[in-house]
Amino acid sequence: MHSPNVNPGGLVISLDFELHWGVRDHSSVADYRENLLGAREAIPAMLRLFEKYGIHATWATVGMLFCENKQELLASAPALRPEYRLAKLSPYLDLDSVGEDEVSDPFHYAPSLIRTIASAPGQELGTHTFSHFYCLEEGATVAAFEADLEKALQLGTKLGVQLKSLVFPRNQYGEEHLHASQRCGITCVRSNQQGSLYNPRASGDESLFRRGLRLADAYVNLSGHNTHSSDGKRPARVPASRFLRPYNPRLCAADSLRMRRILHDLDAAAECCEIYHLWWHPHNFGRWTRENLEFLEAILRHLAVLRDKKGFASWTMLEAAETGTKANRASQL
Ligand SMILES: [Zn+2]
Repeated sequence: MHSPNVNPGGLVISLDFELHWGVRDHSSVADYRENLLGAREAIPAMLRLFEKYGIHATWATVGMLFCENKQELLASAPALRPEYRLAKLSPYLDLDSVGEDEVSDPFHYAPSLIRTIASAPGQELGTHTFSHFYCLEEGATVAAFEADLEKALQLGTKLGVQLKSLVFPRNQYGEEHLHASQRCGITCVRSNQQGSLYNPRASGDESLFRRGLRLADAYVNLSGHNTHSSDGKRPARVPASRFLRPYNPRLCAADSLRMRRILHDLDAAAECCEIYHLWWHPHNFGRWTRENLEFLEAILRHLAVLRDKKGFASWTMLEAAETGTKANRASQL
């Protein structure tokens, strides 16, 4: 049995909830329609699974999705906007073509889903910035980032929620963005999976080789188990351990390896009383939804065993940051 006095470690889940705003620079709505509509079905299904297994998760949500209609979207946009050198990165280019509301345009609005998430047990609403802001792209200033983040947090307040956890789009950030986040009232951020394969880079600097190695790392152990303890910094960093790759029929023969990799990671985290942080996008489950949910449920079944045997917990990012802080404080006394 585990001792109730020892921090047992836990699984953190964060979801980057963005719908089309997260993929618009490389996929049109028509290209990605099945995933985007499927995400709207997959989210309630994920919430049911989370409730069944007592799972807590952080939903880092793009601020634009909070808007009820186009009038609110236009009124909420910051005056200071990023002027990306790569102009297609700017979501403000799309404002003319966005529909009126969630019913007519389920790809760019999601207030009903956000309310469903907020009312589900154990779920934390976090932010993924207002506009899916790319901190490291040329033309993005820290001042524009801060203006963007403030707007995202205001939309949370309107819903009665103080958003405290941040996931940076495309995992791009530097020290100055961490400071700006803290100024805005962010308590914790998802920092990047450690190791040179996972260092944040602007999109043009990513190589196919690095992407290939990251893919291989999902199946065989190239980068270790990536479990973590809290570092006590402000805002608290809750490092990613692994991206939960979506089901791919061309790679399904290797899915037992992919599963084994994650279950071994969880075992290692529980053994060391550390944090294991899985993340993905709801739209990753929008296609092959049944297969993806089955894969997730097998992970959650394993977590339930570790919880019974070792007290291994399930946390939102904020809970992990607060638990880690308490543990750190205790160890400093
Ligand atoms: Zn994103």
